[in-house]
Amino acid sequence: MDARKVLIIEDEKAISDLVKFNLIKEGFETDTAYDGQEGLDKALAGGIDLVLLDVMLPTLDGFEICRRIRDKSEVPIIMLTAKEEEVDKVLGLELGADDYITKPFGLRELIARIKANTRRVASPAAATGASSENVTEFGDLAIDLDRYEIRKRDIPLELTLREFELLRYLAEREDKVITREQLLEDVWGYEYYGDIRTVDVTVRRLREKLEDDSSNPAYVLTKRGVGYYFRRP
Ligand code: CA
Repeated sequence: MDARKVLIIEDEKAISDLVKFNLIKEGFETDTAYDGQEGLDKALAGGIDLVLLDVMLPTLDGFEICRRIRDKSEVPIIMLTAKEEEVDKVLGLELGADDYITKPFGLRELIARIKANTRRVASPAAATGASSENVTEFGDLAIDLDRYEIRKRDIPLELTLREFELLRYLAEREDKVITREQLLEDVWGYEYYGDIRTVDVTVRRLREKLEDDSSNPAYVLTKRGVGYYFRRP
């Protein structure tokens, strides 16, 4: 199996070197960029399995880079944040980051999150053009496990792997409220490390893609103070 490649966009060389060293030890390949524009260019050049993105950077900040990557690519992005107000911004803006981690961070935690966000899907059924057999329908949604695809009224949704897994998980447990802690554990595989707001960020992005009106969701519903559940409209 070829190694997964992480692009580290971080101007503090000591941090970049430390992360790089530990990722290589864990079997990853790495690339590094020390300024924003260089990082954006490398991220968009392709061949990257995950972007680790600092917020405060020369030439372009992490928020802007995240937005611009998302315009063109669904590569997983983990933001490195230094202050609580940066976390709020990651969570509050529609940046499209998959996760964030606050400095100073533990390396074990960082590696665990990178692994969770680069987990590869089982290879989809050979693209023979034949129709998939492994499709479950939930109202006007069709979840196709062979193709790792979810179609809404026959139109495929452009979901990240995490969004796909989250929607599938909830749909398969129709009408059952799942706590955010449970979702983190089962969908993200974050046993001990996760911040439950990670779930809220992903639900929000999923709703943008899934719902007719994301401010008035019909599929993925909130049980206030508890978690989320799926209901077919
Ligand atoms: Ca920085």
